[in-house]
Amino acid sequence: MIPFSPPRMDQRIVDEVVDTLYSGWITTGPKTKKFEKMLTAYGGHRVTLCVNSGSAGLELMLRWFGVGPGDEVIVPAYTYAASANVVVHCGATVVFADSNPDFNLSVESIRKAITPHTKVIIPVDIAGWPCDYDAINALVREPGIQQLFNPVTKPQQMLNRILILSDAAHSIGAWYKGRMAGNLTDITVYSFHAVKNLTTAEGGAVCLNLPEPFNHDELYRDLNAKSLHGQTKDALAKMQIGSWRYDIIEPGYKYNMTDIQASMGIVELERYNDDMLVRRKHIFDRYALAFSKYPWALPPVYQTDERRSSYHVFLLRIKGITEGQRDQIIREIFNRDVAVNVHFVPLPMMTYYRNAGYRMQDYPNAYDNYAHEISLPVYYDLTDGMVDTVVSAVASSVRTVIG
Ligand SMILES: *Cc1c(COP(=O)(O)O)cnc(C)c1O
Repeated sequence: MIPFSPPRMDQRIVDEVVDTLYSGWITTGPKTKKFEKMLTAYGGHRVTLCVNSGSAGLELMLRWFGVGPGDEVIVPAYTYAASANVVVHCGATVVFADSNPDFNLSVESIRKAITPHTKVIIPVDIAGWPCDYDAINALVREPGIQQLFNPVTKPQQMLNRILILSDAAHSIGAWYKGRMAGNLTDITVYSFHAVKNLTTAEGGAVCLNLPEPFNHDELYRDLNAKSLHGQTKDALAKMQIGSWRYDIIEPGYKYNMTDIQASMGIVELERYNDDMLVRRKHIFDRYALAFSKYPWALPPVYQTDERRSSYHVFLLRIKGITEGQRDQIIREIFNRDVAVNVHFVPLPMMTYYRNAGYRMQDYPNAYDNYAHEISLPVYYDLTDGMVDTVVSAVASSVRTVIG
């Protein structure tokens, strides 16, 4: 069986983790701080806070902005549940928007979803393909839209418009018009979950890039405390001689990253551009070339002059099939010992959201993308021979099902 997405693991990662394990400091400490600095340099944004998951990062920032009951947050119908669940956790209302043919949030659909209750938009770079950030950033600054905004909390008053909180769980290393994902909107959140491009087993990071008059050093201190029970000193700071006393300034959360996680991230980030992304791009190119021979195949767009993917997963679509035929093709592919996936079942189709009253027919493009989609494996250890095996398994499965 060719697996879908095993993590890259080797002696360098093992050595760095073991170094941490024996260092006398295994939770948030020097390695997490080092990883944060590396991420800031990599993304080109202002400051980074590491957390224990991408979901935690998204929720932390919604809470920081003061999102709660009565507020609306615009989320793509086509994404993983994390992007919307965090909104529900805050007691706010999820407002889904439809997709483009490139799988990302449609800007026109966002425009239609905006109301005086809208506080945040969460665009998602599906499969590592950056959203149209110039259009999204311009939209929230349009005078007519800005006037609708009702600032209540201090951060809302300081920003004085809808916040763009981008879910870049898939897109570390992607770029848009020469700028890296992380540096394209107000706030960007990465995930380092085990199946993501860059993994720390579990983990995430918040990349801050807010406009004037936000002070990023102050923000970092605030958010760092918020991610650790609102405590004014973290465990490392309390270790300093005479530094035992601390205060709790608010009932914060327990979202901090450990140095064990950060050790993996440090090794992965050091070789991310020159090794991981090179390999992933090679796999994408090989799939794209192979599928260009088949008239039924619609490979994803992953590079143009203005945008470059992080090559997270290869979202192949099969033209002219029904959802049922797609499911049959997937069964056939598994019978040929290849693991594939679907990214994603749109959220209005999930029991919780369906029961909450959302209807899939309101998001026709998201449904259309989903019904034709099969995600193919992309990972560091996937060899050219394995890529060719995946392509033949898909091609012969499509032949079996649609003739
Ligand atoms: C993985 C993922 C997340 C959540 O990341 P975690 O680190 O697992 O919390 C959020 N959004 C999308 C689109 C994801 O794929």
